[in-house]
Amino acid sequence: MDPRDDARIDTLAVHGGERRPGPEGSLVFPIYQGTVYTVEPGTDYHDLKYIRLNSTPSQVYLHDKLAALEGAEAGLATASGMAALTSVLHTLLRPGDHILASDCLYGGTHDFLTGHAADLGWTYTFVDPQSPDTWAAAKTPSTRLFLVETITNPMMRVARLRDVVAFARREGLTTVCDNTFASPVNFRPLSVGFDVAFHSATKYLNGHSDVVAGAVLGSAELIGRIRRTVNHYGGSLDPHAGFLLARGLKTLAVRMRAQNHNALTLAQFLSEHPKIAAVNYPGLASHPDHAHASALLSGFGGMLSLRMAGGLDAAKALLDALRIPAVAPSLGGVESLVTRPAITSHAGMSPADRERIGITDDLIRVSTGIEDAADLVEDFGQALDKV
Ligand code: PLP
Repeated sequence: MDPRDDARIDTLAVHGGERRPGPEGSLVFPIYQGTVYTVEPGTDYHDLKYIRLNSTPSQVYLHDKLAALEGAEAGLATASGMAALTSVLHTLLRPGDHILASDCLYGGTHDFLTGHAADLGWTYTFVDPQSPDTWAAAKTPSTRLFLVETITNPMMRVARLRDVVAFARREGLTTVCDNTFASPVNFRPLSVGFDVAFHSATKYLNGHSDVVAGAVLGSAELIGRIRRTVNHYGGSLDPHAGFLLARGLKTLAVRMRAQNHNALTLAQFLSEHPKIAAVNYPGLASHPDHAHASALLSGFGGMLSLRMAGGLDAAKALLDALRIPAVAPSLGGVESLVTRPAITSHAGMSPADRERIGITDDLIRVSTGIEDAADLVEDFGQALDKV
């Protein structure tokens, strides 16, 4: 079936990109594991069917499914979220170019810029994605690209995404949005005018903590160029992993809604608990971005972070006492996870940089899974009693 443009996200998750009838009548698109296929006369190099060239049947099917979910003209899967990010940047930037980047990026993205941009001849300035009036001063004549995340990790700030698009259009910049934390269920960057959306598909898109993958979405022209970069750098996704990702995508909408609900329920409970000093969740009225997040997002996401009134020792004690969530980094799977970003996702940042954006040593990040919200609340309640 061709996904209907006006179908809702639940329907797109199940039917988007699906072939009807499928090969040999198969309802589930099979894994075409062959690396290479016979050549039709006149085939362009990048259209030869070869796994690294992203052109084999299972890969093309997955690309169509990803595109349907983000409402994009075209999509591309990559070997990881970092492969998605780096392929986008390598396609859009040349030596001498300057990037405006959010000052609260995922640690790996931050470390890529600080560790590699200079070698590639790129410069960057970190800007506060909540303060549009500061961006013009940070822009230089060489600025080409504005890089932001929908919801920042781990403070759960929601960037002024419409302002980013308006500013970039005025200034002739390409806009790139890491939509990992929102997923297309809660926000679709292309629908407000972003040029490129990308994901760590390792997280919500796959949703089962068993695949590392990335996804890039945009116009057919832009995705064609990014695909050539991926083809040359060799960061393509294997069809076996792609099969798992496509299977995960079919339940994305129901999973994400459960995670939105669980995170909101838990955030409300924690924000009223005397042993909790602060809860960062955009669905709470107390969150600094609540008003514009409510206008922008269809759901506030499955991620929240908190600080204990008792500081680092209390944070460690809470992690020890929780029974349901495992202590592990990463996020977006069906199981709840808790972690301290200062020693995991943001360990590569200097303590001063971490402190500046609120990532204190005692900050705990929670990725809510799809368990029953009442069980999560009870578990945090019993753990807090022991702290
Ligand atoms: N972007 C965000 C927001 C992430 O959280 C992550 C990983 O945690 C990445 C990108 C990188 O993704 P991957 O680990 O799939 O390479």
